[in-house]
Amino acid sequence: MAIDRENPDTKYILPEVVVPPHPQWPKLSEAETATLKEKIKRLLKEQDAVLVAHYYTDGTLQDLAEETGGCVADSLEMARFGTEHQASTLLVAGVRFMGETSKILNNEKRVLMPDLAATCSLDEGCPYELFAAFCDEHPEHTVVVYANTSARVKARSDWVVTSGIALPIIRHLAEKGEKILWGPDRHLGRYVQKLTGAEMIFWPGSCVVHEEFRAVALERLRKIHPEAAILVHPESLEAVIALADVVGSTTALIDAVRRLPNQEFIVATDKGIFNKMRQVAPGKILLEAPTVGEGATCQSCANCPWMGMNSLQNLAEVLASGNNEVLVSPELAAKARIPIRRMLDFAAEMKKGSGCLSSS
Ligand code: SF4
Repeated sequence: MAIDRENPDTKYILPEVVVPPHPQWPKLSEAETATLKEKIKRLLKEQDAVLVAHYYTDGTLQDLAEETGGCVADSLEMARFGTEHQASTLLVAGVRFMGETSKILNNEKRVLMPDLAATCSLDEGCPYELFAAFCDEHPEHTVVVYANTSARVKARSDWVVTSGIALPIIRHLAEKGEKILWGPDRHLGRYVQKLTGAEMIFWPGSCVVHEEFRAVALERLRKIHPEAAILVHPESLEAVIALADVVGSTTALIDAVRRLPNQEFIVATDKGIFNKMRQVAPGKILLEAPTVGEGATCQSCANCPWMGMNSLQNLAEVLASGNNEVLVSPELAAKARIPIRRMLDFAAEMKKGSGCLSSS
């Protein structure tokens, strides 16, 4: 094992994460789209299923989730919605850790996903064996992992957090004098550490989408649009976060577009979120924050390739066939549920206090 120079907290070199090309779905005519949507609606009823979609998926899926009584949300709200809904099947349009989290919290329910290969660079970059060895080396630390991790990594942790609740939970632990081992997103970890002053060590993972936003080009864009508010997800680089008017989870950024008086926004997160932002603030102008793609070749270009693996086509297929069921053994689910429940209980307590909460 070699030292990762950029991240001296760990001596582990992460496996290389292979970023897939963006899936190219055949373009559907209006009539084809309408027929597929009707088919999905019928199958959802027949299968006693509900569609739960993330803000980064294609807008058509997000709209369909809402039209059919499902939900479009961040990862925390997706998990919570699944536990509260009566349906016996949860159809999760997002990435694998979201399906797994739904299964962990609803082990008796059937959880289906349009594509089980839809993963996440944070999850891929935090393999259980390496991460567990890192934890074992630091037994005096409280292990806090981001929701974007596998069921096994969650089961190895003391707390699971999403981006919306990371700050208050780390602050709470720091006030109790606990030292934190944080994984896997180092940018979010360092952002939280800066704001809380907590004693933390970091797993060196990152999100391929958010890591591509670039500060210099962002400053240039701000000069062209001086009235625009800059909204940044905290998985981004520190230099990009430093330029933000609002740093927050997907829910917090959507709320900022609705709430702030600005008419223009520069948004540094996956552009799938624009669908919801346009809905809550019609007429406001949304600009994509520049990525490394401006002068080079970007891998994601502000659009997560794994989220792009969800489409109307494979959603209909999976409902019809029952393929792509997410499986987590009851024993593993029971272990992984403990740190997730800790977060949900903390969130519920917070909500009682402030009435507001948001996540990744
Ligand atoms: S946008 Fe980043 S954090 Fe979200 S699923 Fe894609 S790779 Fe993972």
